[in-house]
Amino acid sequence: MDDEPGWLADGLAHVWQPYVQMKTAPRPPAVAATRGTRIVLADGRELIDGIASWWTAVHGYNHPALLAAGARQLQHMPHVMMAGLAHEHPYRLAARLAAIAPAGLEHVFYSESGSVAVEVAMKMAVQFWRNSTGEQRTKFVGFHGGYHGDTFATMSVCDPQGGMHTAFAGALPRQYFAPLPETEAQQEELDRLLAGHDDIAAVIVEPLIQGAAGIRMYDTATLRRIAETCRANGALLILDEIFTGFGRTGAMFAADKAGVAPDIMTIGKALTGGVAPLAATIASERIFDAFYDEDFGKALIHGPTYTGHALGCAVANASLDLFESEPRLAQVASIKRLLETALAPMRALPGVADVRVLGAVGAVELEHDFDTGAARARFIERGVFLRPIGRTIYLAPPYVIDEGDLQQLVEAMAAEIGFQERHAGK
Ligand SMILES: *Cc1c(COP(=O)(O)O)cnc(C)c1O
Repeated sequence: MDDEPGWLADGLAHVWQPYVQMKTAPRPPAVAATRGTRIVLADGRELIDGIASWWTAVHGYNHPALLAAGARQLQHMPHVMMAGLAHEHPYRLAARLAAIAPAGLEHVFYSESGSVAVEVAMKMAVQFWRNSTGEQRTKFVGFHGGYHGDTFATMSVCDPQGGMHTAFAGALPRQYFAPLPETEAQQEELDRLLAGHDDIAAVIVEPLIQGAAGIRMYDTATLRRIAETCRANGALLILDEIFTGFGRTGAMFAADKAGVAPDIMTIGKALTGGVAPLAATIASERIFDAFYDEDFGKALIHGPTYTGHALGCAVANASLDLFESEPRLAQVASIKRLLETALAPMRALPGVADVRVLGAVGAVELEHDFDTGAARARFIERGVFLRPIGRTIYLAPPYVIDEGDLQQLVEAMAAEIGFQERHAGK
């Protein structure tokens, strides 16, 4: 550890890292800088980032337009609270988000993390019924394989078998779950569930890709069926686009690909291109109308300290500018073509259970469990940054990645699949 900076050695005893067993977690490599699609380590090595820092850095790192927007904002006003005051960027951003969001979504509530955006969506759904019909609809329908965040309400709608939150099972509100309605039998199960309960406020689903719980993909017809089932049974539909939003599936929002308009949509992750923490919950006119009243008791009572953060919103506006001035969706389409060509042959490799590609996401699922921590370390040795989920190795790179870097990511994946096959069962 000769090249290791002092702050890492000093801080390791005090930083409680995310999603790891601290006792067995490998020492994280120290990062000195980022640029483009690269993470530069303190020891001088460079890693090609295959997952865009948890799917946020869609324009690559250090894009000059985002840095300039952030610097301008920091110089004249990093932030000022939004309760009782208005400032430019959250207002501009809300109007722009309403213009590009699926039809009917008009009202933007800001928070600082995706989990909170989902919490707010759930609060909106419950209170919508109380305000509009007086019904006590307090339950949600989630799907097997779903992920919506790590706070209490959001954990309650994550895949109950997934294992991420089993420690809290007894502390969570109990919700309803169904498989995605991909077959007729599954559709009937969802129909029965929604028709059979009058306490359901909303159905919540990640459109087209279930990300964090395993990079599972499903088709637009299934998403449309979910939307129709909600409509037929009078349940609200919440689309969680925190992973899929901002071009990841090839359209600005996955809902657009299916022609589905939800009652409420959550966004986060790529909203600021990975520069600042910002998320939002966007509601339809119908939802908003149920809160719009003389009666204070009908107001939405939520207000994160940093709601409408000036720096975050300034960078988010600059990120939307980049979607207009640079060919992001065309870049997603070329990533998709390259991934289809490069990953398809892996289907024939021994030990591979499935290969999936949608937009700028490519996933190879193996037949057996493996030590993902050890795999991550091998990826770093191979000069790439990848984080397998469960049995799935996947790519969700910045959209600006060039063909050479993408090819190297694919080769690193292939090398790991070969390694796993050689060591399977040993
Ligand atoms: C990441 C994610 C969340 C949680 O967002 P955080 O910012 O980590 O709280 C919720 N839903 C989906 C679909 C996500 O991908």
